[in-house]
This record gives sequence, C-alpha cells and structure tokens, in this order.
Amino acid sequence: MTDVAPRRCKRRCKQCNQPLVEIDHWSERLTGGPTCNRWQASTGEWCRLAPDDIVALRALKATSTAQRDAMGRRGRAYAESRHSYEVLAAQFLASVEASPSATSAQEAAR
Ligand SMILES: [Zn+2]
Repeated sequence: MTDVAPRRCKRRCKQCNQPLVEIDHWSERLTGGPTCNRWQASTGEWCRLAPDDIVALRALKATSTAQRDAMGRRGRAYAESRHSYEVLAAQFLASVEASPSATSAQEAAR
C-alpha cells in the first residue's frame, strides 16, 4: 500500500517528462512517476506499483492540497477516536470484566 501523499521533485521522468514524485511505499522511499509507473528505490532498483496502487496514486494526485489536508484531518480524527490509548484501554477493561473467567474469579474472591 502506498499511503503517503506524493511529494513533487524538481527532476523530471526521462521517459514521459512528467515531474518525479517521492512516495512512501510500505516504508520504502520510491521516486518515480504515476504517468508511466516506473519507480526507483534508494537502492537503485526499479519497480512498478500494483494496478490498484497506481490508480489510487493518480486519484490522489488529482486532488487539491486543501482536499488532501481535509482527508488527513478526517483520518487523524478517525484513528484517535478508535485507536487512542484511552479508547483501547477502555475496550480492554470492558472485555476483561465481561469475560467468564473474570466473573468466576470475582465470585471466588467473595
Ligand atoms: Zn515517466
């Protein structure tokens, strides 16, 4: 999955002459172009992105900075509402308290 908004580079693709972009592809920094789908890793190896990834990257490239910022804010709010330590701790405690072994342990302690 390619999950970081592309960053434009000053260099251009030698094949299609479009501006190169940098992306984070599964924690690997790739430089290349969504137009011809040729990407170079920092090791110098070349690759192509999966069809779904290149479709998503082209759609992302077509959005404005304001739209990408709004998506980022919504993503952060979603993650914080479901994956914060407070939410996860509350879910953990609720599941421990609801488990049969916790109930029988509490009854045995009485
Ligand atoms: Zn190109």
